[in-house]
Order: sequence, then structure tokens, then C-alpha cells
Amino acid sequence: ATPAATMVGSTLSATNGVLFKGGDVLEQVRGVDTVVFDKTGTLTHGEMTLTDVELVGERTATDGGDTAADGGLLTDREEDLASHVLGAAATAESGSEHPIARAIVDGAEDRGVEVGDVSEFENVPGHGIRAETDRGSVLVGRRKLLEDAGIDTEPAEETLSRLEREGKTAVLVAVDGGERSSTNGEFDVPLLGVLAVADEVRESAKETVAALHERGTEVVMLTGDNGRTARAVAEQVGIDPENVRAEVLPEDKADHVEDLQKDGARVMMVGDGVNDAPALTTAQVGVAIGSGTDVAIESADVTLMRDDPADVLKAVRISEATISKVR
Ligand code: ADP
Ligand code: MG
Repeated sequence: ATPAATMVGSTLSATNGVLFKGGDVLEQVRGVDTVVFDKTGTLTHGEMTLTDVELVGERTATDGGDTAADGGLLTDREEDLASHVLGAAATAESGSEHPIARAIVDGAEDRGVEVGDVSEFENVPGHGIRAETDRGSVLVGRRKLLEDAGIDTEPAEETLSRLEREGKTAVLVAVDGGERSSTNGEFDVPLLGVLAVADEVRESAKETVAALHERGTEVVMLTGDNGRTARAVAEQVGIDPENVRAEVLPEDKADHVEDLQKDGARVMMVGDGVNDAPALTTAQVGVAIGSGTDVAIESADVTLMRDDPADVLKAVRISEATISKVR
């Protein structure tokens, strides 16, 4: 872009809550034919709330809390075990900054479940956490985290997939120490539970996707979350299920962007997290959500100050208007 274009673009953008990092960016934005959205914190608010606490191999304690799946009241033992699972998970997660972790800790506090002490804590990025706590050894995370620890996750599969089809993010909890699930019986099998957290789609996400499609732009979702949850959210915002790339590890997000670019796409990547930073740098245009992490903002060419996905369109329109005006 010419210096004049830069100036006009910057002036326009400042009043619209869209910050461009330099004049060349306007030209790049104009050429974009594919927009890749991160899910959590970008298409959704990224503020997760604990919605479900379930025991595996026991009757279930869901939202309402006092009725089991078979219609009967939960026994005291089932209530106790559910509280034990939640308390152990919250204790283990108290050392993590992840949105899932915060939802679990807040959810425990809201339900009057005490959060204990952690002696050792290990974050396994993209998978979950391991911790040694005053409740015993605790694992919280996706299937793979537990399977790698030799735990059979099959008994939890039905519960997990039901919650995921609802668009929730479900994580497994394994607590090794003291309490046992009555059906697990054996003392070498840890108590298993499933916690679900949910997040709300941002108001303008759907209309933004529709307007991008209208413009002939390909829209893709890239997320570390599981496929079922990702597809449920994609459906809510109008992204083609074929364009959903789920269970993408943080270190692999950039590779997905690169693959699209190798196929000839001109990619705008929109994200908020530390795990999006390399992909934001790799894309022709990186766009950060204003309330996102500093690393994301530093890696991006454009920042959306109002956290509004609709401002992606505004960025496109500003670039088109600016450049055609100057020429
Ligand atoms: P996203 O790309 O959606 O921000 P992440 O890459 O951070 O997701 O995490 C991917 C998945 O790993 C999560 O959906 C969850 O299943 C699991 N996970 C990551 N961190 C945690 C944690 N602190 N507690 C439980 N599960 C976690
Ligand atoms: Mg995110």
C-alpha cells in the first residue's frame, strides 16, 4: 500500500475498533479468500461454565442435581461420590489458567464443594492436567490423557458423546485414592467421572459467517476441542462440517494454515490464544481478538478491539474501500 493508503486506512480503522499494524496489511486483507476461526474465545466468548457433573458406572447427577437418569433420587453415596470427583478435579485444576480449569474451580465453589491442596502439578498442553493432591492422584482431561495412563475410558464413552453432541466440552476425571465407584469395585481402578463445561457463541458469529459465505469466502474452524463439540458449534454458526478441523494440537495449528496456503488459499486466521500465535504469524493475515492473550495480539497484523467477529468483515470492507479510494 502507498503511505496515503496507510494513513486513510489507519484513520478509518481507529474509529471502527479495528487496528491494522501497517499499511501493507490492508492490501493483504483485501486478497483473503479463506477465513480460519479458532473456536474457543474467538467464535465463542471463551468464558466457560460448569454444566454437568457425572459419575461413570453410577447413576448420573446432572444440572438439576437431585434426580438420577433412571428417574430415582440419587443416593447419598452417589451425591458424595459426585462431590468427591468435582472436589478432586477442582483441586487439581486450581493451578491451571485454562478456561476449562477456571470453570471447574468456580463450579465447585458455586456448589459448596471444597477445593483442597496440590503438591505436584503438571500441565499437558492440549490434553489436560495431572496432579498430586490431598485427595489423591488426579487426572483431568481428554480421553487420550487417561488412556496414556492405562485407564480404560470406554465406560465413559456414552456420557462423553452425549455431552459433546450438546456442544459442550466434556473432560474425564480419574481420582486414585480412597473412594471407589461401586461398579468399578476393584481397588486398582480409579474413580471415574465426567465434567462438562459450556461456552456461549458470540452474538455476531453466525451473521459474520453468513456474510463471508455471501462474499464467496471459505470459512474454516480450527480447534483443539473434540470433533463432536466442534461440529455442534460449527452448526450453530453455519460453518460447513467438512471445514471443521478438530483436535488440533497447539503446535499443529500453524501447519493446518500452511496446508491451506499450499493449496493456494489466501488465509486470514482469527484467534485469541497462546496456542493460536504461530498460526496467526503463518497466515497471510493474522487477526487477534482484543481481549485475547498478549502473545496473540503481538503475533497478529490486525486486532479487533471490540472482540466482535463481525469486525472481521469491517476489516475486509475497510481494506477494500481504502485501497479503491486511493487508486
Ligand atoms: P482450544 O484449542 O479449544 O483452546 P486446548 O488446545 O487448550 O483447546 O485444549 C484441547 C483439549 O484438551 C480441551 O478441549 C480439553 O479436552 C483438554 N484440556 C486442555 N487443558 C485442560 C485442562 N486444564 N483441564 C482439562 N482438560 C484440558
Ligand atoms: Mg481460543
